Amino acid sequence: MHQPPISELSGADPELAQLVEAEAKRQYEKIRLIASENYVSQAVLEATGTVLTNKYSEGYAGRRYYEGQQVIDQVETLAIERAKALFNVEHANVQPYSGSPANLAVYLAFAQPGDTIMGMALPAGGHLTHGWSVSATGKWFNPVRYGVTKETGRVDMDEVRELARAERPKLIFCGGTAIPRTIDFPAFAEIAREVDAVLVADIAHIAGLVAGGAHPSPVGHAPVITTTTHKTLRGPRGAMVLADTEHGKALDKAVFPGLQGGPHNHTTAGIAVALREAAKPEFRDYARGVVANARALAEALQERGFELVSGGTDNHLILLDLTNKQVGGKPAAQALDRAGIELNYNTVPFDPRKPFDPSGIRLGTASITTRGLGADQMPQLADWIERVVIAAGSGDDATIDRVAAEISELLAKYPMPGWST
Ligand SMILES: *Cc1c(COP(=O)(O)O)cnc(C)c1O
Repeated sequence: MHQPPISELSGADPELAQLVEAEAKRQYEKIRLIASENYVSQAVLEATGTVLTNKYSEGYAGRRYYEGQQVIDQVETLAIERAKALFNVEHANVQPYSGSPANLAVYLAFAQPGDTIMGMALPAGGHLTHGWSVSATGKWFNPVRYGVTKETGRVDMDEVRELARAERPKLIFCGGTAIPRTIDFPAFAEIAREVDAVLVADIAHIAGLVAGGAHPSPVGHAPVITTTTHKTLRGPRGAMVLADTEHGKALDKAVFPGLQGGPHNHTTAGIAVALREAAKPEFRDYARGVVANARALAEALQERGFELVSGGTDNHLILLDLTNKQVGGKPAAQALDRAGIELNYNTVPFDPRKPFDPSGIRLGTASITTRGLGADQMPQLADWIERVVIAAGSGDDATIDRVAAEISELLAKYPMPGWST
């Protein structure tokens, strides 16, 4: 049953309530390895399900366009103060609706349409909003893109420097969605300084690791930092822009009134709760555990002949190139899902296959670490992945069913926040 219980919803809209229950059960029954997902605490769920959703509060605390902000001002200020303390930044804006709008706010604050901007190419691990062609950021600006080197699978800082010197971008984005290695913020900062660009660290994936001390912080290197709140940071779906004082004002203006209307106050409340949780010593253990699990899983996969982009991982994320296993990323991901292992197919750098049917799969350990799985269970997980990937190649449904049964037996021992049997 979903926690907190949804008894009113069940009465008022049984059809929808049944879907919510079904999704909760699905999340309980899967080994969730989608690198951008997590399980939020029940406290976060409760905060996001409050009457704060009823309130309009365009503007910022003390400068709103509607009356009745006696409480909302305090909620938003609490979230802001917690964000500033946790990440050790001078300025925080907690209003962006999600990671993509947070990045758009950065463009609006510091670039003009047609300006040159620089980011990591999507197929190399960057995000759509770092100037990829199908994104507004690639259409309305002049994007130049860096990638990774073929031999190492890592960002080539020499290429970044050469490209920046030649193209003189206004903005340089670092960070991405499929980067298994530590981001070298000081090196990016040096390049940005040299070409007089604003360095933007998009830490959407690794914010929880940064907060928990398991990845270096961009603070002091990147004057502008964007992040989602729902990935390793383990909060509700939302985003923040963190900055130094100098850049803060323009960013606030860009978020509101530049891009958005009223902030989602119930989400702000959930973010505040998640930030409080992330400031606790247990969260440092969690962040360390996420990385330890990823390392252990990476090692166990390598022992089974899997090829890892960049040869390993420093964070929560593993990118597998399945070329040597003679199965595409998509059929592998589909077979794994049937077996109870949920992840996504993903392009690998220099992928010869199409984005809709690429060579790789992406794995992350944020959710399973929240669930309570530890490094000693990663060989077992790697074993299941190997069996299912081989079964996917040969159409061996019996193996997939057997693995599904084994996984469901294991997960029965690990409770999930938001659901109780
Ligand atoms: C997830 C992600 C985003 C976008 O977040 P949404 O909330 O999905 O809009 C932006 N940048 C990076 C690097 C991400 O991983």
